[in-house]
Amino acid sequence: MICPFCNSPTKIYNSRSTHGKTQTWRRHICTTCERVFTTRERVDWTGVTTVKTSKDTTGYSKERLLLSIARASNNLSIQPAMLAELCDSTEQQLQQNGFFNEPEQDADLITAAATMVLHRYNPNLALQYVNIVYSNNPPLELVKQLLSPLDSL
Ligand SMILES: [Zn+2]
Repeated sequence: MICPFCNSPTKIYNSRSTHGKTQTWRRHICTTCERVFTTRERVDWTGVTTVKTSKDTTGYSKERLLLSIARASNNLSIQPAMLAELCDSTEQQLQQNGFFNEPEQDADLITAAATMVLHRYNPNLALQYVNIVYSNNPPLELVKQLLSPLDSL
């Protein structure tokens, strides 16, 4: 990788795994200006195919997930960094559930994982999220679950 400050070659002088070994963190130093910067490497799940309940096929998109979460956070004053963190947690949850191991995935699983992660953080955020995902017409059972105590999810 070249230096983002002066475009000279850089060296990696430290690296470690983070987020349960799903990410690699590397510290680089520029061989010319000697400035230090950090990169984070993680799997890019873009291109994994998902299937909606209507059986339309759509690519998994982390951006779309983040956008839905960001829209749901409207009026809840949640830091952008926290939204990204919640998006990462959702992706990690999906990964742990084997979501990315299947050749085709049900898009509802993304919603379910995101709803669970968001609900743990802020129940109102989870409610607004399902409203957005289901275009203001979320399944009643899901809303009931979100309104009941945490352990029922
Ligand atoms: Zn440099």
